[in-house]
Amino acid sequence: MISYVSTRGEGGRRSFEEVLLAGLAEDGGLFVPESWPSLDPAAFDGLDYAQTTARILAPFTEGCFDEATLLEMARAAYAGFADPAVAPLRQIDHDAWVMELFHGPTLAFKDFALQLLGRMFERVLACSGRTITIVGATSGDTGSAAIHATAGRAGMRICILHPQGRVSEVQRRQMTTVDDANVLNIAVAGTFDDCQDLVKAMFADTAFRRTHRLAAVNSINWARLAAQAAYYAFAAVRLKGPLAFAVPTGNFGDVYAGYIAQRMGLPIEKLIVATNRNDILARFFADGRYAAGTVHPTISPSMDIQVASNFERLLFDVHDRDGAATAAIMRAFARDRQLSVPSARLDELRDLFAARRVDEQETAHTIAGLAHEAGYVVDPHTAVGIAAARAAAPRDRPVVTLSTAHSAKFPDAVEAACGIRPELPARMSDLLQRPERSTACAAELSAIQRTIENWPV
Ligand SMILES: *Cc1c(COP(=O)(O)O)cnc(C)c1O
Repeated sequence: MISYVSTRGEGGRRSFEEVLLAGLAEDGGLFVPESWPSLDPAAFDGLDYAQTTARILAPFTEGCFDEATLLEMARAAYAGFADPAVAPLRQIDHDAWVMELFHGPTLAFKDFALQLLGRMFERVLACSGRTITIVGATSGDTGSAAIHATAGRAGMRICILHPQGRVSEVQRRQMTTVDDANVLNIAVAGTFDDCQDLVKAMFADTAFRRTHRLAAVNSINWARLAAQAAYYAFAAVRLKGPLAFAVPTGNFGDVYAGYIAQRMGLPIEKLIVATNRNDILARFFADGRYAAGTVHPTISPSMDIQVASNFERLLFDVHDRDGAATAAIMRAFARDRQLSVPSARLDELRDLFAARRVDEQETAHTIAGLAHEAGYVVDPHTAVGIAAARAAAPRDRPVVTLSTAHSAKFPDAVEAACGIRPELPARMSDLLQRPERSTACAAELSAIQRTIENWPV
């Protein structure tokens, strides 16, 4: 049975259930499996999407969920996806494919992991009789995916803080039109950073944290990454690897899921890290120096990140899985805002990883080119991936760009790039008419805490 350890080496070995509920380790590190399970790629032949998910996850969840239980949850999680293939592949050029990961309830890939996680939480909580309050801050995609994964589920309620007036209308409405009693949307008079600080402050208030049994939803949860490894396996089997993936990247979560699939034995030859002008990762893979800059707003806002939280997991492997060494490096990074890895290690990483930065103009150009030449409209995040795939794909291999969001989630940027205004899918065409529900609140901890205390669930 696989146990989990922290990338910073303290706290001993943990079970999947502990890792699922805790998110972050107590020493500030991230959980990783103590060893990598391996699977024969032939074990995935002929499996549909839900079966692929259950098979990938089974070695990671042993002792908590068996493969049959995983399959039951995965079937339920993906039943509502709008495409029968769940994660369909579209060919856009001779060796180039797009994997559409936006057919879930909130039109972005985050639904893949969160729809499953909501069900995992519900089962684990039902067994122990516990209840939790999930709190989180969002700049758009994560909050809505988490709300849709949690709404109406037993044992949990969810409170999401968003910066009032600073998320797109579609993103806001995907949160505020959910009317289940266990969902609380707080519109904070402040910025996204204020929202994040308020969430951190709630966790730091030990009495409040214990009374409400706070839990987090963020991109560092191990179970989220492992669930995402499934679509890499699904594509690798369909296109009969070796193959490459191009991944629009922010927090290094999605592309790390590709690394998980590769470590498990799937024939993945290259993982292309695609960044917008917030390019800390592209710079790292160029010269081995990981140095935080300032965040610039772009038309691919879900990738406007300078410090990629999941990168620590890769650094742990780079340092031979030595937790004390990783902890020292992360402490130095917190102080200096930069770190570097030896060139021999960088060369090893480059066997598997490539990286490209794609600027705003090239992103818009890519959207326009595909729309006019192939009649295929992609969102700006996907366009960053496609442009990076074109620049960095190995020869004579299929390359799959992960399409992380539906174009209708970013209609203004898409229309500006190609003159076509993408429409919401029919199943949510009334989103702009549905009634909204949210509570306005000052950016003050006491005001937020009072709102949560007065929440009658
Ligand atoms: C979250 C997100 C990303 C970035 O994913 P990471 O796992 O943070 O690298 C890319 N595109 C879209 C649309 C997203 O919502």
